[in-house]
This record gives sequence, structure tokens and C-alpha cells, in this order.
Amino acid sequence: MDTSEKNRIGIEEILLLLPQTQCGRCGFDNCRSYAEAIAANKTGINRCPTGGQAGIRMLARLFNIAEPVLDASCGEEKPRAIARIDETRCTGCTLCIQTCPFDAIVGTGKMMHTVISEVCTGCERCVSRCPIDCIDMKIVSGTRTGWNAWSAEQARAARERYERRLHRLQMEKKEETGLADTTAGSNKKTDLLRKALDRARVRLKSSRTS
Ligand code: SF4
Ligand code: SF4
Repeated sequence: MDTSEKNRIGIEEILLLLPQTQCGRCGFDNCRSYAEAIAANKTGINRCPTGGQAGIRMLARLFNIAEPVLDASCGEEKPRAIARIDETRCTGCTLCIQTCPFDAIVGTGKMMHTVISEVCTGCERCVSRCPIDCIDMKIVSGTRTGWNAWSAEQARAARERYERRLHRLQMEKKEETGLADTTAGSNKKTDLLRKALDRARVRLKSSRTS
């Protein structure tokens, strides 16, 4: 592909043609990382099985190139499915909650978890994370696959939710770091105070004995 053509096309334009399920099947952490790699001419446009051949076609049109077939090493194009937790077996370990990029799983420690089906994008990240294998995927799009089983509106909503979650995690991390700094600062103050008191005691003792 012509590099100048790729540079002309921005990451945002590419992102709009990726499904935003953040599944990682393309081999990148999320849809944005994949879009950035495409824009930088570091990878092909045929690595997203979730968008499927329809997605590859849209990308090929965007870049004005011939449509390649899906890279089979990224997985096959499948009907859309959503996660389902076997609530009779769930131990409430919370690993799936921590993993879900969309906060689509609710529940607390030691309590049964449930998937909010309207929010689940079917990324399957929770499935491999479950230590007792109690999550499976239920097909919800019949035989429709890729972008034929997903809409631009769903992609927009998924992206918003994912970015909101990233923002929340960043804020939580900042708060934790701030708290750690405050604790370290107050420990340091206590230490200095203790040393000053020790010195004062020594001075008092020596003034009494002299
Ligand atoms: S939806 Fe496509 S582009 Fe986004 S992470 Fe999954 S495979 Fe990659
Ligand atoms: S519930 Fe599972 S499959 Fe659904 S979005 Fe969350 S991690 Fe992905």
C-alpha cells in the first residue's frame, strides 16, 4: 500500500470502520492500537475477524486498494454471541468483572455474577479468564456475521463505554498513587518527629547530668 495514501487517512477514519469490541483478535490490545498500526503502515487491513469481510471491504475502499481476504491466523468470522455465566457454578471470584472491557458483568466477591446482555459485545475476554470454566457464549445473530451482525451505533456505544472505563481506571490509579504518596509523606514526618524527640531527650539528659 502506498505510504502517502495511508498517512493521508487518519486514525479516526480507520477507527470508525472497526467494531470496537476490543476483543484483541487482531493481535493488538484494542481497536485503537490496531487502527494506529494500520495508519502507520505497520500491519495489514485484514486482521479483524469481528468486523469480518465486510469490515475489510470498507477499509479497502477507504484506502482505495484491492480487498484482501481475512487473515486466518486471527481467527474465523463468526456469528455474534454474548457471554452467559452458569450462575449455579459461579464462585464469585470477580476475575471476569476485572477483565471485561465494558463493565458488562455485575456481582461482588463471593456472590454470583451476571452478564448485562445489552452491554456485552461478545469479545470473549471473560471466557478464558474464568478459572472454573463457567462462562460460555450464546449466539444472538443467527447466521449473520461481522458487520452484518453489528451496527455503527453499537460500535459507537461500545467505544464510549470502553473509553469511560479506561478513564475511570486511570482516575482510580491516580487516587491510589496520591494516597500512597500521602501515606509515605506522613510516615516520613512521623520519623522526623521521632528523631527530633530522641535528640531532645538526649540533650535534656546531658543538661541534667552536667
Ligand atoms: S474488534 Fe477487530 S480491531 Fe477491534 S480489537 Fe477486535 S479484532 Fe481488533
Ligand atoms: S461479558 Fe465477557 S464477552 Fe461480554 S463484553 Fe464482557 S468480557 Fe466481553
